[in-house]
Formats: sequence, structure tokens, C-alpha cells
Amino acid sequence: MKYIIVTGGVMSGLGKGITTASIGRNLKNKGYKVTAIKIDPYINIDAGTMSPFQHGEVFVLKDGGEVDLDLGNYERFLDTELTREHNLTTGKVYESVISKERRGEYLGKTVQIIPHITNEIKDRIRRVAAKSGADVCLIEVGGTVGDIESMPFLEAVRQMSREEPKENLAFVHVTLVPMDPQGDQKTKPTQHSVKELRELGLKPNIIVTRCPEPLLEATVSKISLFCDVPEEAVISAHDAKDIYEVPLMLEKYGLTDYLMKHLELSSTGAEDDSW
Ligand code: ADP
Repeated sequence: MKYIIVTGGVMSGLGKGITTASIGRNLKNKGYKVTAIKIDPYINIDAGTMSPFQHGEVFVLKDGGEVDLDLGNYERFLDTELTREHNLTTGKVYESVISKERRGEYLGKTVQIIPHITNEIKDRIRRVAAKSGADVCLIEVGGTVGDIESMPFLEAVRQMSREEPKENLAFVHVTLVPMDPQGDQKTKPTQHSVKELRELGLKPNIIVTRCPEPLLEATVSKISLFCDVPEEAVISAHDAKDIYEVPLMLEKYGLTDYLMKHLELSSTGAEDDSW
């Protein structure tokens, strides 16, 4: 199983969900079977009890799961059907660990975030990925790096990066490149969010930047140098008129080819560019 882990820096609403769905679509076009998991670090068991004014629409899956609207994007972009297990929340993880503790499954042990919560997160990710029969499993970590709620999830994926062969995991970090009043593209927020990620033991392989205009060559070079990723792994995801342009944009900037190279995915010979 190949895992692509999408994290976000600087602020929410930059397009992690659309980036995740777009990467999935592009890999599907290359002939791979793709699935996706959305991690929501809130303590609610699911989005069903949350006001749409707080968190956007609640998306209802075929199995009745009331989940984050990102799963709707995944289903549309990937042309697939997901189940409630594809939305992992802090509430679900803790509910299951606490039930196990009451049943005596950890008998004698002090139940802790590391390893009990992180093991539960890794088990759930691996179980859902294996059950889907996919070649590639995308995992979007909701929230922003540095949020206290996302820490156990980031620690769990850090542990996965030690446990899985190097070519089975890719980290994609989505950040913001704002423009200053003079119209210059600013890389400092990206530098800071990558630094924050590295403090948690995670190193992005690819940086996708949301920006008002396409990234300039000088901006790409600067992000590459300061964030220690090759220039070809700095991808511009500038404002699009329509979100369905985003997969085409990521393809144009070489994201799929770079990911395939990193994950050692060879061409399947079943390319489908009909979308
Ligand atoms: P996040 O998962 O980071 O919170 P989303 O993927 O939900 O962000 O995207 C936030 C909003 O921005 C959505 O309304 C989405 O349609 C829009 N969006 C995302 N990427 C782009 C883009 N490149 N151009 C224009 N709109 C975008």
C-alpha cells in the first residue's frame, strides 16, 4: 500500500481537501485504484451534530455516515463510494480506546496517547486502506499543523513513516504564499509552517502552495532552498475559477509524475484521460 499524507500549514481553507481529491483523481487517471481517508481532529464522533455554519455542509454517505464535506469532494473527484470508516475523528479514536480499556484489553497498562491512541489511529488507517483494495491511500490531516488537536494524528503518521518502506509514503504540505502590498510573493509563512512540521519530526516531500497568481521562478527557488525540497516538488496551486481546474493545474506542474517517481509507481498502461 502506498500512502500519501496531506497536511496543511498557515491557516485552514487553503485547499487541502481539493488538493487531496485532485491528486487522487490524477493517480486514478494513471490507472491506479485510489481511496481516501479524512482525519478530523475534533472531539465530535462525527459531523452530524455540528452546525453547517460552523463547519460547512454535513455530507451523508450511502451507509448513513454523517461526515465532513471533503468526503463529498473525494467521492465526486474519485468517482467512488466511501464509508463512514473513511472519516477518522478524535471522538471515534478515543471512544474505541476507552471501550477497549473498559473491556480490559490493556489490562495492567497505563493507557496513554503514545502508544495506545497512536496505535489505534495507525490500525484504523491501515485497516481501511487494506479493506478498500486500493493501490494508493490518500490521508488528509484536517486542521493546521501546530493545532493541539492534530498532534496525535501527526505523531501517528510520523511513526508510520518509520515503519513503512521509504517509497511507500509521501508527505504533501499545503501552504499559503500571500502577496505583499507591492505585489511580491512572500514565502515566510511557508517557511514557518515547514519549520513547525519539522519540529514534529515530519519532512514534506512536496509543497503545494495556494497563491493568488502562479508561483514565480524566484519564489519556487526560494521555497526549495529554505524548505529543503527540490524545485520540481514546489507546486503552484493558484486561485482557479473552478475547482475542477485544480487537478489539471497540478498535472501541468508535474505533481503526479513527481509523486509516482517518489512512490516508485510505474506506469500501469491503463491511463485514462477522459475526465
Ligand atoms: P481545506 O481542506 O484546506 O480547509 P478546502 O479544500 O476545503 O480547504 O478548500 C477551501 C475552499 O477553497 C473551498 O471552497 C474550495 O472550493 C476552494 N479552493 C480550493 N483550492 C482552490 C483553488 N486552487 N482555486 C480556487 N478555489 C479553491
